[in-house]
Amino acid sequence: MTDLKSMTLEEITAALRAMGEPSFRGKQVFTWLHRGITDFDEMMNIPKSLHEKLRAEYYITVPTVARKQVSKLDGTIKYLWELQDGNCIETVLMSYHHGNTVCISSQVGCRMGCKFCASTLAGKVRDLTPSEMLDQVLFTQLDSGREISNIVLMGIGEPMDNRKNVLRFLELINHPDGMNIGMRHISLSTCGVVPGIDALAEDNLQLTLSVSLHAPDSTTRSRIMPVNNAYDVEELFAACHRYFKKTGRRISFEYAMIDGVNDHDWQADLLAEKIHGMPGHVNLIPLNDVVESEFKPSKRVAAFQKRLESHGLTATVRRSLGGDIDASCGQLRRKEMKAREGAAQ
Ligand code: SAH
Repeated sequence: MTDLKSMTLEEITAALRAMGEPSFRGKQVFTWLHRGITDFDEMMNIPKSLHEKLRAEYYITVPTVARKQVSKLDGTIKYLWELQDGNCIETVLMSYHHGNTVCISSQVGCRMGCKFCASTLAGKVRDLTPSEMLDQVLFTQLDSGREISNIVLMGIGEPMDNRKNVLRFLELINHPDGMNIGMRHISLSTCGVVPGIDALAEDNLQLTLSVSLHAPDSTTRSRIMPVNNAYDVEELFAACHRYFKKTGRRISFEYAMIDGVNDHDWQADLLAEKIHGMPGHVNLIPLNDVVESEFKPSKRVAAFQKRLESHGLTATVRRSLGGDIDASCGQLRRKEMKAREGAAQ
């Protein structure tokens, strides 16, 4: 059986033509899928006989809501979706004055091993398909009734570790006959997989690249992010500078402030030095306290921000949303996994 929603319009059209159908059927089927139909029967302008032919060879992915938490503080919604194979993934919907942003996952779990992150504690189970990434946007919009204007690939998983599917997802979500979300409204975040950054520079998409840096020196970065042993700070910054030269696009550096680890003034100075030569933007994130983690939130966020600004850098502090609903970094999925383990025993 083939996953129909992961196919491009051209592929669907070709497959239907091979079944003896006219070309215009491709666009009809594609449009229905991207409106969120859950069964072939719902494709109203398509003959019943074709519903059955499609059903014999293809399936339509449909996630179900395993849990949904709505923040009383700011309306942020966190979804825990159950996929058809029983795996669960998280999606967060945040509403700002300029629109609704959805934060989606790219993998079930993650194998990058960042020490402060809850998503990676149990490792990676599998990659998400393009349709499963698309469904997070589509079904979040349908369930919440809020139109999605922006997407950030900052949920569970490392997008550059599932690059092929992520690129196809971008192509699908961007399609005028689909959800038609512009690349300028999409951010992709990586923990620093250098070949992925170089490949993305070649693709020259108009999306925003975020790099989860978290430390400007390799000693500190290796301590908190194992990926630094594969691609260290020097290699990472070289790739970022190449990316800027090639695309002319400003990179956003994510920096989660950890008490006594990466919040010293000398690290702000070093960070400014490393970014020098391109228009970087530093996004300081107050560390989310993960129970299992030895790392604690820094108390120097404002001071660190001032220090960066004294070097002429733009530094913002990420506003925390959904503080009452575990709305970050794999915490809800982790709770659910633990609950299920408990129930099985
Ligand atoms: N794997 C990609 C996508 C995940 S994005 C990446 O690393 O960029 C999620 C962002 O949240 C990353 O910047 C990650 O480093 C950060 N993060 C993870 N755990 C966190 C925590 N406990 N507090 C604050 N930020 C955290």
